[in-house]
Amino acid sequence: MDNMIDVIGSLIDAKSKEITELSDRIWETPETRFQEYQSAKVLSDFLEDNGFSVERGVGGIETAFTATFGQDKPVIGILGEFDALSGLSQKEASDVREAIEENGNGHGCGHNLLGTAGIAAVVAIKKLIEEKKITGSIKYFGCPGEEGGSGKTYMVRDGVFSDIDVALTWHPNSYSGVFSFSSLANYQVYFSFEGKASHAANSPHLGRSALDAVELMNVGVNYLREHIISEAKVHYAVTNTGGSSPNVVQSDAEVLYLIRAPHIKEVEDIYQRIINIAEGAALMTGTKVTVRFDKACSNYIPNDTLNIVLQDKLEAFGLPNYDEKELSYAYKMASTITTEEIDSAILDAEKLSNYQITEQFYTPDYPFFNEVIPYAKTREVMQGSTDVGDVSWIVPTAQFFTTCFVAGTPLHTWQLVSQGKTSLAHKGLLYAGKVLAASAVEIFENPKLIEKAKEELVKQTKNAYQNPLPKVLQPSI
Ligand SMILES: [Zn+2]
Repeated sequence: MDNMIDVIGSLIDAKSKEITELSDRIWETPETRFQEYQSAKVLSDFLEDNGFSVERGVGGIETAFTATFGQDKPVIGILGEFDALSGLSQKEASDVREAIEENGNGHGCGHNLLGTAGIAAVVAIKKLIEEKKITGSIKYFGCPGEEGGSGKTYMVRDGVFSDIDVALTWHPNSYSGVFSFSSLANYQVYFSFEGKASHAANSPHLGRSALDAVELMNVGVNYLREHIISEAKVHYAVTNTGGSSPNVVQSDAEVLYLIRAPHIKEVEDIYQRIINIAEGAALMTGTKVTVRFDKACSNYIPNDTLNIVLQDKLEAFGLPNYDEKELSYAYKMASTITTEEIDSAILDAEKLSNYQITEQFYTPDYPFFNEVIPYAKTREVMQGSTDVGDVSWIVPTAQFFTTCFVAGTPLHTWQLVSQGKTSLAHKGLLYAGKVLAASAVEIFENPKLIEKAKEELVKQTKNAYQNPLPKVLQPSI
């Protein structure tokens, strides 16, 4: 296998220019959920040109695709994302906040790197299959709308992942380690109130305010928080206030709720209570409420068998090294990251490793974390959600982080966008591509791992997966 580490390292390094250019093109065209037309085209065309058989528009989503190579079993799936976030437009490699386009989109979660590293991996694996060094097939999944869309949950509902034996993926971060914890399941739901407009001074008694209903609903839910499990989180955004005229009784208003908890059953219970509150608010204000389900995803099921393989490869390739020029930029970026942000990343690393990291992990004189986070099987839950969760319920799945940014860089910030097109991020991308490819190769060479990973999954889920999306729901842009 040591030899295989070298082989994969050279295969991916040989393609590094093409791969990082691909990532930069995605970074330059930041597209948000289910509108990733250019990004999906760039990635799927690249795979087609490289000899993969591509299927576009899978799972009923225009920007979702698969790319397959090989006919043999087993089939390993590599998941890639490529969607951006709104409002995070930012110039590259700048250590101050500077938008390219005011209120424009930006790659604030590094998904330009995420989707492209998977491509580096599958292209390398294809070569090894062709040279008969390994037996099996590789399938890349182009998964759109991770941010606020749960694209994979729709793809799971439509059976897109049903022919693979194992799924592997990763996420860019400011540290490297295995994603050993679970994540929160969630529902996202719109509550629209309809009342009656009227002159707010002259005939208020004739009006019925939808905005009042939204406000009363939010007050009700804020009281509910005291009486739900402490692990649950409920967030909301008022998506329609009914207009900007205070002299009108607002006839239409809308609020979007995001309900999270460790398990989907808990989310469902809280959701039912929130529906009651919405109906109460409608009753109080003489308005009508319409509930519109937007999206959902399940909690993530980590797989210890596969996690151990990933950890081994993370350590075998080791953290990236940086030259003088990279370090000088990294120090500048590091000066924009607060101590609290660094502490928060260290706490993540502690949880991921079951509190095994040493003092060496972070030293204030160096802008990057110093070690791969040690692996531990943990019962920690990440305070966030991912639609990889639904994939992990039906096929053994494992994911990891690699160092793409300076220590403590938080996700969804301008600092992350700024670094996303630099050689720091490129090094993390290539590192991730190598870990994905080498892990897949070990699984191809040792199919017993698949059996073991599958047994572990059944033990954890008891085959009780239920897709959380309503059957008729289609993804909305
Ligand atoms: Zn992300």
